Amino acid sequence: MTTPPGNHAALLARRARVLAPTYRLFYEQPLQIVRAEGVWMYDDSGRRYLDAYNNVPVVGHCHPQVVEALTRQARTLNTHTRYLAEQPLQLAEELLATLPRELDSVIFTCTGSEANDLAVRISKAVTGGSGFIVTEFAYHGATEVIAGMSPEDGRPLGPGVYTVAAPLGADGAAAFGERVGRCLERMQADGVRLAAMLVDTIFSSDGVVADPRGFLADAVRKVHEAGGLFIADEVQAGFGRLGEAMWGFARHGIVPDLVTMGKPMGNGHPVAAVVGRAGVFAAFAKGGSYFNTYGGNSVSCATALAVLQVIRDENLLENARRSGEHLMRGLRGLAQRHTAIREVRGAGLFIGVELGANAASGRSGAAETRRVVNGLCRRGVLVGSTGRDGNVLKIRSPLTLELQHADLLLEALDQTLQSPE
Ligand code: PMP
Repeated sequence: MTTPPGNHAALLARRARVLAPTYRLFYEQPLQIVRAEGVWMYDDSGRRYLDAYNNVPVVGHCHPQVVEALTRQARTLNTHTRYLAEQPLQLAEELLATLPRELDSVIFTCTGSEANDLAVRISKAVTGGSGFIVTEFAYHGATEVIAGMSPEDGRPLGPGVYTVAAPLGADGAAAFGERVGRCLERMQADGVRLAAMLVDTIFSSDGVVADPRGFLADAVRKVHEAGGLFIADEVQAGFGRLGEAMWGFARHGIVPDLVTMGKPMGNGHPVAAVVGRAGVFAAFAKGGSYFNTYGGNSVSCATALAVLQVIRDENLLENARRSGEHLMRGLRGLAQRHTAIREVRGAGLFIGVELGANAASGRSGAAETRRVVNGLCRRGVLVGSTGRDGNVLKIRSPLTLELQHADLLLEALDQTLQSPE
């Protein structure tokens, strides 16, 4: 059975019939996207939308070099890591070249959830601890253990999981280290031994927090003093998104014990990894080997390798920095004229725009954010929302976004904020 394009009611009915009720659609008028290229997504009527939401297609949708590498490898061989082969080695070498020297070994997985799950297993094995610290509104993935470390959406915490508030607003930098210190005291009082602190280095679901630079360092020092590991979740911030470095933790001048990555790694193809020190992995390996059928398969590795090459060849870090700064400047300009904008935060092409309640209409910040997200969609620009109060616009386009695209977004946002509906 196929539904002719444009019959959204029929597609919605089929979805409801065959997909579990766990799925969610974006936008009041859900989109049927049929193809995409670069920063553009096209719907079933041929209308194009500027993609300022999807961080996965980091080098642009359907990048020809990535598609070519993927299809060439799929035509040649696709197998696992139990044979000698070039692809996983080349990918590991290229990845490690982007990371601090201390991080010298890789384990491939398929998803960010799996990478975090594995990092949690490793940190338990290495430290003998069972306690974890995450931020209050974190999202780290969907396995049983990681869902217990993802309190976003009110999920219950797993055993031994403690939370600290992300550094938002005036309390900022110093407060984060102090909060982690107090959390460690609470754990000690409860007789829980720390295994690791797991943090998304751009605090995406907590509402996007990039500044002040370096605020994570004090917290990480305290975690190390308490005998725990620091796991940097780079699933959102990694692969050049913050514009000045490949990895979000670089902004904080720290070297994590374990780094988890995924999403943009394959530009849409599922490939993920945990990177760490060989010594840390060796302690884990004492408990047995780790095998992941598809983690490190030939096609995924060839694809991820092409993504790294495109990021380098097209100088996308520099583009993310330049386009991000232009966008940020434009957004701060809009904030001067639109009282709805409370704060503009972020780095590179990961930007959060916090909106306040609208006094004239009586709408809450969250309702105003929903209105703006849908208004932008009607005007052909795709963004999302985030934050504990659902009042932060989340802007994370492919890193190929050009200044003219950023201007389109700014103009559409200006119009949407001005518009009464
Ligand atoms: N960590 C973070 C910070 C994420 O945003 C996500 C996905 N939204 C994950 C981990 C999980 O990745 P995946 O969906 O590939 O399992």
